[in-house]
Amino acid sequence: MNDMVGKGILKGLGVSLKRFVETYLDDLRWLGKRYRTDQGIAHRGSKDARGIFTVQYPEEKIPLPEEFRFLPFLVYDEGSKGEKTLRCTSCGICSKVCPPQCIWIVRSSDPATGRPIPDPAEFHIDAELCMNCGFCAEFCPFDAIKMDHDYELACFHRNLYDVTRLSKSAEYYASIRPANSQREDAARAAKAASRISQVE
Ligand code: SF4
Ligand code: SF4
Repeated sequence: MNDMVGKGILKGLGVSLKRFVETYLDDLRWLGKRYRTDQGIAHRGSKDARGIFTVQYPEEKIPLPEEFRFLPFLVYDEGSKGEKTLRCTSCGICSKVCPPQCIWIVRSSDPATGRPIPDPAEFHIDAELCMNCGFCAEFCPFDAIKMDHDYELACFHRNLYDVTRLSKSAEYYASIRPANSQREDAARAAKAASRISQVE
C-alpha cells in the first residue's frame, strides 16, 4: 500500500516537473509573444499549449466577447459643440422589468408647470444587487441603457451608481459592441427615414 502511495507521489511530481520545464520551452518557442498578447492568451488556451496555461491576471486579461455583460450604463450622444444628451427618457420600463429591483429613477419636471420632462433628474443602480441579466438593456425602447464590459468594480463602500457614473458616450458603446451598435444605428436611421416619408 505504502509503495503504491509513494509511486503516486513520484508520478505527480513528475507531471509538475514536466510542466515546469515545458513552460520555459514554450516561452522560448513564443519568445516575447506568449504573455500579454491576445495571440499568446489564445495559444495558452489551445490544445497546443505546453507548460502553464493560466492567464496572468491582472497583468493580462482574457479578451471579452462582444456579448459579455456586467453592469448597465446610460448612453449619451454628443453634439457638434460637445453637448451631451442622454438617450434616456426616464420612461421607467427598465426599472419595472429589473428582477432584483435595483434601478431607481426620478423624472425631471418643468419648474414652471410641474409637467414631467422626458429626462432623468436622478438615475441610480445598486451594483451590489444587479444580477447582470441584461433585461434593462433588452427592454429599453430607446437604446438608452446598455450592458458594460467593465467588471473590475470592487470597492470598500456600497457600490451605488448615479447618473454621472453611469453615463458613457455612444462612441464608447460602439467600441465595446461594434456589431450591436451598427445594427441599432441602422434600425434607428431606417425608422427615422420611414417617419419622414410618411409625413411627405
Ligand atoms: S434607460 Fe430606457 S427603459 Fe430605462 S428609463 Fe431610460 S429610456 Fe426608459
Ligand atoms: S442587468 Fe438586470 S439586474 Fe442589473 S439593472 Fe439591469 S435588469 Fe436589473
